Amino acid sequence: MDYYSKQINQLVESLSMLPGIGAKTAQRLAFHILSMPKEDARRLSDSIRDARENVRYCEQCFTLTDDVLCPICKDAKRNHKVIMVVENTRDLAAYEKTGKYDGVYHVLHGAISPMLGIGPGDIRLKELMQRLQKDVDEVIIATNSSLEGETTAMYMSKLIKPTGIKVTRIASGVPVGGDLEYIDEVTLLRALEGRTEL
Ligand code: ZN
Repeated sequence: MDYYSKQINQLVESLSMLPGIGAKTAQRLAFHILSMPKEDARRLSDSIRDARENVRYCEQCFTLTDDVLCPICKDAKRNHKVIMVVENTRDLAAYEKTGKYDGVYHVLHGAISPMLGIGPGDIRLKELMQRLQKDVDEVIIATNSSLEGETTAMYMSKLIKPTGIKVTRIASGVPVGGDLEYIDEVTLLRALEGRTEL
């Protein structure tokens, strides 16, 4: 393991900690970084450090942002009475890309999974229920159509229904087990438009 000097080894090791990056790819990336102009390499390391240090959860919707409130929650032109619940920030980005949704979001950061030991207390459900004490017309449940996503959707609808707020679920045009972020915009829009009341 000592073919390279200490600092190169360290770089390779750090890169191989990233998901989907094996030892070979880590080496390739490390040598790529070392051959980059110093300025570009600095920008890369600065952006990692800045993002990691400053990015936090939006106080309202819990998406990742670098301010107290994210740009969507801050936007007065959006309909704050419609809340779409997604599993993660990438799913939010997928819906934003369609450019057709003008409500706001709530990011759960996960889904209920009895198999993995993830319960309702491990995702941002309590925070959602607190938000629902304000004036809300509709909650659109847009969790993935995986077993975990469906379990979460069912759990949430039972929780929200007694409040009298309309609860809808995006249409099942979204492929089962499909991560929302990989689905094209047309499919997402169809799923949103075809949502049904739970
Ligand atoms: Zn927000």
